Amino acid sequence: MSDLDHFRAFVADRDVPCPSCGYSLRDLTEARCPECGEPLTLGVTLSEPHIGRFIAIWIPLIAGLGFGGVLSLWGLAAGAAPDELAPLLLLVLLTAPSAFAAVKQRRRIRRLDTQGFASLVAMAWILPTLFVLWFMASV
Ligand SMILES: [Zn+2]
Repeated sequence: MSDLDHFRAFVADRDVPCPSCGYSLRDLTEARCPECGEPLTLGVTLSEPHIGRFIAIWIPLIAGLGFGGVLSLWGLAAGAAPDELAPLLLLVLLTAPSAFAAVKQRRRIRRLDTQGFASLVAMAWILPTLFVLWFMASV
């Protein structure tokens, strides 16, 4: 049985929407959407993409980056001395590459064991929080 035969058998009795335009692919005989013309293929994917793991790490990093970035710019515009802004600037220097690395390494994050994932989540929340507390204490 060819890939096209498997595709035809799969869509023969199902209202599967085209992933591009949403058109129903029921009873389709070609592996191409008749509505939008996109080529189609039958594949295997994760039943649960585990995006929650990525979000648990990414949210504190992006929040830290936003907090540090906005307040640094505001402080610089208001004429604050750079040493007063050190916690915020260091927060930006910590969170920007970490958030970028989290995006690049999201597949590895998804495959971490529970202990490794818990350690990474703890670091993602604790380190930005420490810089924010340092900044709050110095104001
Ligand atoms: Zn389509």
